[in-house]
Amino acid sequence: MSLLNLPIEFSEAKPVIQKIQKAGFEAYFVGGCVRDVLLNQTIHDVDIATSAFPSEVKQLFPRTIDVGIEHGTVLVLWNEKQYEVTTFRTESTYQDYRRPDHVTFVRSLKEDLKRRDFTMNALALSESGEIIDLFHGVGDIQEKIIRAVGDANERFHEDALRMMRGLRFVSQLNFAMDSTTLSAIRKHSHLLSQISIERIRVEWEKLLIGQARKKALALFLETSCFCYCPHFEEQQKNLEKFMNLPTMQIKKIDEAWTLLCDQLVLSEAEIVPLLKDWKLSNHSIRQIQKCYQGLQYRKTAAWTNWMVYQLGKDTVMSVETLLPFFEKKPSFEQIEMISEQLTIHSLKDLQINGHDLQKGLNKKPGKWMSDILHFLEKKVVQREIENNKDDLLREAHHYLEITKEA
Ligand code: ATP
Ligand code: MG
Repeated sequence: MSLLNLPIEFSEAKPVIQKIQKAGFEAYFVGGCVRDVLLNQTIHDVDIATSAFPSEVKQLFPRTIDVGIEHGTVLVLWNEKQYEVTTFRTESTYQDYRRPDHVTFVRSLKEDLKRRDFTMNALALSESGEIIDLFHGVGDIQEKIIRAVGDANERFHEDALRMMRGLRFVSQLNFAMDSTTLSAIRKHSHLLSQISIERIRVEWEKLLIGQARKKALALFLETSCFCYCPHFEEQQKNLEKFMNLPTMQIKKIDEAWTLLCDQLVLSEAEIVPLLKDWKLSNHSIRQIQKCYQGLQYRKTAAWTNWMVYQLGKDTVMSVETLLPFFEKKPSFEQIEMISEQLTIHSLKDLQINGHDLQKGLNKKPGKWMSDILHFLEKKVVQREIENNKDDLLREAHHYLEITKEA
């Protein structure tokens, strides 16, 4: 099979392949980019596999970076673009169901394609547009089937992460899982406990935001893969509830986690430990917490200036995006309106500061300053007072009087 009119990403990378070939080696486009071109999808990274060893690749190009030389990968910088050029390799001895103990560089493309996870990912494309399909990958793509290369049991035994990769491809591509491959996942799901959470999370998040989330979640549950993911073992019923939500695609990862936490019926205090055990960054955890708070609020109430100000427009928009899952109609215009009309966007925008308060109220510095500033902040956001120094100071006096009385 030959492809005419390769997308620009390939024609830009062609000189890299040609240069390697001129030096007497083989080189092909491989992996996800070949699959994606056959699926007419946008190409992310164009990866190249070659019979040249890393040192040989480095000699051919003036600008390279060693990104994973022990795995055979050299990053080649070419015309403002960068390409991962990886030596054909086999991954021989897997002792712990994860990464290979060591990789062996080989000169044969076939050996390299054999070690890849699924037939659709084991295709190579020559610079002239010829597809090298040794494992019926093109046919499987046409039939929308995810099938392990070779013996599925062996492949998952070698690297258990492949099971999660398979499920995320179901979601991303809306493909079916080949029945033999699926049986092998059922049989080996427990090996996921050997895989680092970080690696599982990458695949899980792609599954969450894929177009066929429901189909992939059904397999995630049916194969018991969920039992080997943090906090999920006891959550089968709620994960089913999550699976049965309307099938609308979720676009952003934070939104997906928020919806998931909601369906798992977690209290606010339980969210952080779950997200931490999934090894999310502190930044992501904070974002998800805010989104979750916003969602709980929005289920029963309309947005106010104060809520939009506190959570920020992006979070509020995310919450609104999730409303259809609760049979509520989103109103993005209202959020636009509120956020455009916000008088201030942070405490810094207040026309008074701690120093002014101290002077104006003739008091020693103390906690009272931040109490008053936050009180004034809320009043200004709610448009109960104007944001000018005189009015703010007057209100501060008033605040001190009431709190004294109280
Ligand atoms: P994406 O479009 O999400 O990047 P991808 O298939 O390109 O999908 P990568 O993780 O970029 O996924 O991997 C590139 C290629 O390397 C795959 O297409 C596959 O051939 C091979 N590969 C990746 N991970 C594994 C694995 N765990 N086992 C075997 N082969 C793998
Ligand atoms: Mg890729």
